[in-house]
Amino acid sequence: MSNLDLINQALNARPKPEGEDPFFAKLPKCELHVHLEGTIWPVSAILLSGRNGIHIPIPEVVNVTGPLHLATFKEIIELEDFHHIYYATTRLIQQATDYGDLYLEYLLHAQGQNIMHVEMSFDPHARGLDGARIPLDTILGGIEAAQGARMLLDLEISASMIMCFSRGRPAEEADQILTELLRSSYRGFVVGVGLDSREKRYPAIEFKDVFARANEAGLKTAMHCDINEINSIGHIRQAIYDIGVDRIIHGLDITIDPSLIPEVIERKISFACCPFSYLVKVPGFKRLQIKQLLESGVLLSINSDYPGMYDWRLTDNFQLVGESTIPDSEIVKAARNSIATAWLPEIKKQEMFDKLDRYINDCMVEWAREVAAQQESDIAVEELSTDPRV
Ligand SMILES: [Zn+2]
Repeated sequence: MSNLDLINQALNARPKPEGEDPFFAKLPKCELHVHLEGTIWPVSAILLSGRNGIHIPIPEVVNVTGPLHLATFKEIIELEDFHHIYYATTRLIQQATDYGDLYLEYLLHAQGQNIMHVEMSFDPHARGLDGARIPLDTILGGIEAAQGARMLLDLEISASMIMCFSRGRPAEEADQILTELLRSSYRGFVVGVGLDSREKRYPAIEFKDVFARANEAGLKTAMHCDINEINSIGHIRQAIYDIGVDRIIHGLDITIDPSLIPEVIERKISFACCPFSYLVKVPGFKRLQIKQLLESGVLLSINSDYPGMYDWRLTDNFQLVGESTIPDSEIVKAARNSIATAWLPEIKKQEMFDKLDRYINDCMVEWAREVAAQQESDIAVEELSTDPRV
């Protein structure tokens, strides 16, 4: 069986999501924060386990053929626990082919949700912080080799990569990886660098120089600022003032100090938030904060983070935030922001804005038609009930 057959088998094995509102599924949008290593659906985990002869170490998480249950993740309160499961699962990805297949599988999922463009993160330390670095030849070599299959799979969606450094490894090592990337033939696949993993013991400031160097080399910069962290606001300040990032991942704790909000608007720093990732940690997924930032004019987009591991796609995240009514300005704003803050040429973004505008316009026409038909039906019922002959 070829790799592509495996991918299709994995896609077909997934049950169709229940309760999906077509408005969210068809909404044209971009995905700006998704971890390539977090796109492993349980079915793919089983395939990779067999292909690479690796025992799946956490049976209750991946030894299932159906989707992961929300309950499993609701039990994971601490991010440390999440990383334990995360690293155990990511160790299943061994070969360049594995990376290429996961990449293609995700793009197929994404295109099916009318996602027009994806910026996908990867981390050379995704298998753990013990120093066993995954070579760029394995990760980006797999992505490069997968390009040939895009046409076969009718993939029109565009995609670029963001190389993440792990906070748990020394900044000097991040600098070496950056040098390796800049000298490699894979440079063209990568549009930016990021910083991931838990900030508790590893402040962003330690990576100031490597981020400055990446910036000089023409790469954009993104940084995780998790919610409910000790000194969240201090980390956000470092990202804004010391590093000068282009994009903050999560960062909703900025609402603790609203005086910073005009600052990020002025500096055009975008926010990539991932509602389902908060739902597994806090009730209400920070809905109020998302709303507050969108209303304030912050360039906030909605993203999926770990769609395979959570079995919670981008469309599901939009649906979580929005109401199933057409003129839902928050959702449309978030979709518009995802285009506005994608790291793409303006001409490409204009095409995507046009697509979104056409879609919203069509929805509004349809919605108005439905309202008019309902009003006519109500009048007819009223006339019938007041007719003395009835
Ligand atoms: Zn993330």
